[in-house]
Amino acid sequence: MSKSGICDLESFSSLEWYDVAPHLSSEVRTALEHVLETQEGVLLSREQSLALANAEGDDLLGLLVAADELRREIVGNIVTYVVNRNINFTNICFVGCKFCAFSRGPRESDTYFLNFEQVAAKAIEAWELGATEVCIQGGLPHGLPPFYYRDILCAVKRAVPGMHIHAFSPMEIVYGVELTGMSLGDYLRMLHDNGLDTLPGTAAEILDDDVRFVLSRNKLSAEQWKEVIRAAHHLGIRSTSTLMYGHVETPAHWVNQLLHYR
Ligand code: SF4
Repeated sequence: MSKSGICDLESFSSLEWYDVAPHLSSEVRTALEHVLETQEGVLLSREQSLALANAEGDDLLGLLVAADELRREIVGNIVTYVVNRNINFTNICFVGCKFCAFSRGPRESDTYFLNFEQVAAKAIEAWELGATEVCIQGGLPHGLPPFYYRDILCAVKRAVPGMHIHAFSPMEIVYGVELTGMSLGDYLRMLHDNGLDTLPGTAAEILDDDVRFVLSRNKLSAEQWKEVIRAAHHLGIRSTSTLMYGHVETPAHWVNQLLHYR
């Protein structure tokens, strides 16, 4: 139950904005009214965003109701999706992120490394089952052949020319740049020319170097992540952008990151 007993959080979708608005703190109510009145393109201040990120009880319920109302007005009730297969070509990785249950050291007994034929076969199988996209990412093993990422793209596009390839986190892009000695722009352009359609904006976790030092100190810095994404967008390679939460970060980190993405 929320503080005033309006409703359980689980059943918020049966509520309307006017049911909850009178129960909210003035700070949260003002911020949400601002969003609901102006809808798309509204620019909440950092302070307003922080108030929403820290919302609890009735304020949190109000945030959910407002978000649901806005979603209904802007995009309606039709949900679309892409049928996608994830192809993780190896689990061998030297980075050592503390949250990762996927990676293995090179001498562990359950490592694997798919060759290009195996990766292509997975793409073909996915296409035959109705997938239109593959997401290709993997661990970062020492001594990867310099043009390995390019050659995976070629193998998949050769096998299934119509498949959309969403591949390689900014961490992998930085590794590929190191392996080849190319400039970031030239490297991304080469991948794009060989079939890279879009980039997963993973490896962002929380874009704050103090947090990154705790979670994954060998990973690329926040600034390097931004540099890769900016360079990709500059070349017309669109990306997603992730935010991994629920560990050592605070709501202020979420807000900083969302403002950065905005
Ligand atoms: S870089 Fe990726 S695969 Fe490697 S440890 Fe970190 S999360 Fe795991």
